[in-house]
Amino acid sequence: MTSTNNKRTAADAGLPEGDNAPCCWVCLEEGPDKTGAPLVRDCSCRGSSGFAHLSCIIKHAESEGRRVAMENAETGAALFAKAFEYCPNCKQQYQNEVIYKLTKAAVDFTDREYKDVTCGYLLCHTLSNRLTVIDPKNNADDKAEGEESCTKILSIIEDMKCNELLGLFWKETYVYFEATAYGAIGGFFMRLDTEESLTKAKQYVEKARDIFRETENEMPMLMAEKKIASIESKISGEENLCVDTLQKIYAYLQRTIGETDPQTIGAGADVAEALCLSFHAIEGERLLSKLVELSRRVHGMDHESTKRSMSYLQRMKERIVITQDGQPFIALRYENDGDKCIVKDPTIEDEKETRMSASGIIPYLGTPVVCKGLQQLTHLNGKIGDVRKVDLEEGKCQVHFQEAGLEHAKIKFNHLRVVFDLPPLDA
Ligand SMILES: [Zn+2]
Ligand SMILES: [Zn+2]
Repeated sequence: MTSTNNKRTAADAGLPEGDNAPCCWVCLEEGPDKTGAPLVRDCSCRGSSGFAHLSCIIKHAESEGRRVAMENAETGAALFAKAFEYCPNCKQQYQNEVIYKLTKAAVDFTDREYKDVTCGYLLCHTLSNRLTVIDPKNNADDKAEGEESCTKILSIIEDMKCNELLGLFWKETYVYFEATAYGAIGGFFMRLDTEESLTKAKQYVEKARDIFRETENEMPMLMAEKKIASIESKISGEENLCVDTLQKIYAYLQRTIGETDPQTIGAGADVAEALCLSFHAIEGERLLSKLVELSRRVHGMDHESTKRSMSYLQRMKERIVITQDGQPFIALRYENDGDKCIVKDPTIEDEKETRMSASGIIPYLGTPVVCKGLQQLTHLNGKIGDVRKVDLEEGKCQVHFQEAGLEHAKIKFNHLRVVFDLPPLDA
């Protein structure tokens, strides 16, 4: 991991020395620890709260780990490692260098104190966490460490399954850790990003998905499916948008954490994006407009979730057209009763607007259109749809209509007009 965030140290954050100087929330001392290491903070804490010595966080997390291991001997792996991952003040995950170092400390601690095979799932868990933060593609040490961790995880799982006692209740108690570990191994090989590693990645994530499916863990199962789709995209070089899976994830989050949660809104935006990329532009734009509205109302204009979805909606509303010779433009509006179309060149910044004959521009893939002046297929006049294919030789676009029951049809260019603002659904 390369990104160090120096602004998070006390001095660089511009915080005062002396009376109001920030102090470590564990040992309450100001300034560096005995080894000279400064206070760190990389979570969502603000102001002067949340600073600590890394050595202090580790000591604190270790004692939390020991306490949990004693209290919930069997099921507490996530809880066991929680203090290595989450800031207890703001409850958010540590970031960047801090999480990088803490996940290593968690592995070392588990390896040192919980070596017994009956505790294997604890080490399995901390190793899996570690795998998610290392950077095998850009860092040779991380790559070596990751490969070693994968081997170790697999052998722990084997040992635990073979152990007579543990094997008996493997299915109920430990199988979730097994699936999570396969997911982490798959993620590691995916980020390694070689032809060979991607094939391995797919195998492991499929194993994880199958276990999650069998044990009816819907969300992790869907996340695994999404990961498999993106591995397949990397392998084949062809985008696999997995709209279906994204829709299921969105529906799941709506059901469980509610439709206004930023995470749900983000999942909805993923669906909208995939719809647009597969040229279901109208459906995608309607969904995203709804999400922007929702986010604005609930979280306000300045919230990350609102800003992100708004900027994406803006891009989505760009209406792409091409000329006969295939040059793309962004259409802005019609003039002269639709005879002329005002366009601009998307490749030139601050490009002036150009006026073109409306019959000379062709709505491109994913552009919402309306039919006009058809002599045959007259029932399609006034109907809106997405352009899903453009055939320059034939002079026609294949349009898929919004209205239920309408078959898609090939329409001549001169009978199509770009729709700039989608009509409300009920109209
Ligand atoms: Zn301290
Ligand atoms: Zn915090």
